[in-house]
Amino acid sequence: MDTANYLKLRKQIPSNVNILAVSKGFKSQEIKTIQNLGQNDFGESKFQEAFEKQVILKDLKQINWHFIGRIQSNKIRKIVQNFKYIHSVDSFEKLQKISNISYEEKKYPLIMLQVKLSEDPTKGGFNPEFLKFKWIEIQNLKNISLIGLMTINPKGLTSRENSGLFKKCRALADSLQLPDCSMGMSGDWEEAVDAGSTWLRLGSLIFGDRC
Ligand SMILES: *Cc1c(COP(=O)(O)O)cnc(C)c1O
Repeated sequence: MDTANYLKLRKQIPSNVNILAVSKGFKSQEIKTIQNLGQNDFGESKFQEAFEKQVILKDLKQINWHFIGRIQSNKIRKIVQNFKYIHSVDSFEKLQKISNISYEEKKYPLIMLQVKLSEDPTKGGFNPEFLKFKWIEIQNLKNISLIGLMTINPKGLTSRENSGLFKKCRALADSLQLPDCSMGMSGDWEEAVDAGSTWLRLGSLIFGDRC
């Protein structure tokens, strides 16, 4: 890992856009190196892998942990206990379960709802129409703080196509009066910034290629 990559990104990315350093596949020592440069938000996509690093890094209290992976129902309690943010809530049933467990655990996770904006069979997420239909019910769930939407674009799109989907996500978030959009990864972050992303999820651009 070359810390110059991170420092260069910091300069390129507007200061009102948050960087989430996606550390899946990398070790706690590498997280420490980036944290030392002032990066406090780290994203992980598998609970067990993340938890092992959280235990090692427990004294670094400044770190905010974000869960960005597919949520297995039987891991929800552990995710609620150990993550401040959850970006990848992809169904109403999981959201309800997160709410109930957060109440029991006296937690208040910051939630972004994953939305499905294109026909990508490999990705889950709320259908935008269903989200609007359920919106009042969703807003009434206890012990969660809904802050935004999250989307993952399919691979292999043109820059224009990426922009189009990101703008859809931003417009939907605006219509629901949600401030945050978690969108943009190493290959499409520039389009995401232009469309109004507030959280870029950057892995390989910061840490290098995952093996
Ligand atoms: C791995 C991952 C990322 C980071 O991907 P890069 O292309 O390495 O930046 C972002 N978001 C999610 C949900 C991921 O699983």
